[in-house]
Amino acid sequence: MPRILVIEDEDSVRENLVDLLEAEDFEPIAAANGKIGIDLATSEIPDLILCDMMMPEVDGYGVLTALRQDPLTATIPFIFLTAKSAKADFRQGMDMGADDYLTKPFTRAELLSAIMNRLEKYANLKKYLAPKNTVIQLSPKMQLLEISLHQAINEHNFQEFEVYYQPIIDIASGKIVAAESLLRWKSSKLGMVSPTEFIPLAESTGLIIPLGKWVLKSVCQQIRSWHNAGFYSLTIAVNFSVLEFNQPDFIDKVVNFIETNNLQPNCLEIEITESMIMQDFNSAIATMNKLHSLGVKIAIDDFGTGYTSLIYLKNLPIDTLKIDRYFIQNIANDYQKSAITKALIQMGHNLNLQIVAEGVETEAELSFLRQHDCDSIQGFLISRPLPAAEFEKFLLNNKSLSI
Ligand code: C2E
Ligand code: MG
Ligand code: MG
Repeated sequence: MPRILVIEDEDSVRENLVDLLEAEDFEPIAAANGKIGIDLATSEIPDLILCDMMMPEVDGYGVLTALRQDPLTATIPFIFLTAKSAKADFRQGMDMGADDYLTKPFTRAELLSAIMNRLEKYANLKKYLAPKNTVIQLSPKMQLLEISLHQAINEHNFQEFEVYYQPIIDIASGKIVAAESLLRWKSSKLGMVSPTEFIPLAESTGLIIPLGKWVLKSVCQQIRSWHNAGFYSLTIAVNFSVLEFNQPDFIDKVVNFIETNNLQPNCLEIEITESMIMQDFNSAIATMNKLHSLGVKIAIDDFGTGYTSLIYLKNLPIDTLKIDRYFIQNIANDYQKSAITKALIQMGHNLNLQIVAEGVETEAELSFLRQHDCDSIQGFLISRPLPAAEFEKFLLNNKSLSI
């Protein structure tokens, strides 16, 4: 049932219109002056507005101007009602964006025809605008994913999530010096969902904020528990999204979890990507400087895939450069990849950075990296990401790997 807002100061005219609209199965909303009319239009978002032109205080022109400025009400069909038939008023109303104009007295048929005409056009317009207005048209699979992600966070209290740990090995000593925490989601409805699927969704819905907080909390608690078990010299890296990194309370959150778990700040390494830094360079540097001055380590993840001019690295407060898996894959046989990686390692060392190669899968890749002085490796060759308990076993059994 279309809802029609009637803005008319003359009681008899307004009541008449309301009765007439009700009789025609519309749902009328009545406003006795321009100001009430604007308020009701904004709160009720009617399907059409009939508005008297001559009213004390806010007149019809004033109402139309106000409504056209608010995106919520700007496209609602607007029909002026007036006793005046002067051409100048008609033009002024239409020029201001009114959709139609009825001169009082009008017949019932005239009124209904104007209303139906406008409603029909508006319905078509809405149909035409709908796909563009809805920001993302999610496929049914994505809709299910989004609903499930909401539930996993807000109703199931993170129970479906688990943080895995992938060892990072120092090439020279064969020792596990660090691990990267990687989030896993085992949805009760969808089964195992890859972070490459749900992290972008969590980012676009803002759910990454509570989710990232939960990851950071879990990791800090885990570091404490490993410290208690005697594994002191382990740095754990945590991935962050740009949305989290740019939250005003990001540093406070990090500090809070470090303090609550009584950790040395350098047990924690924050992984961010080049593109995150480039999105808002000055603010990113400020956050990085603050974290770094507190003792938290900072790594640039997936290095080489973004567009960071290498010279920028010189000015960044970072400890570690993680060379993206793309450059490592088949490195021994690919002249370009090997040339780039050699240069990255050399340049990184000149800047006093630790170099980690990501995604090392073969002995050939490892031996190339060893030959060119890369510091550490992470990849399936050593281990896949593991649940905390399995990672702990791995730590116990592999105090030093013969690599
Ligand atoms: P990333 O930070 O670059 O993490 C490394 C990815 O490479 C992980 O994928 C890891 O499982 C995979 N990987 C490690 N070694 C190998 C290898 O030898 N071969 C191959 N093919 N892959 C290897 P994963 O766990 O699927 O995570 C994908 C991405 O999701 C991560 O990329 C990271 O950007 C994001 N992510 C994961 N956990 C979190 C989190 O807690 N928070 C945020 N914001 N992002 C996360
Ligand atoms: Mg990472
Ligand atoms: Mg990476």
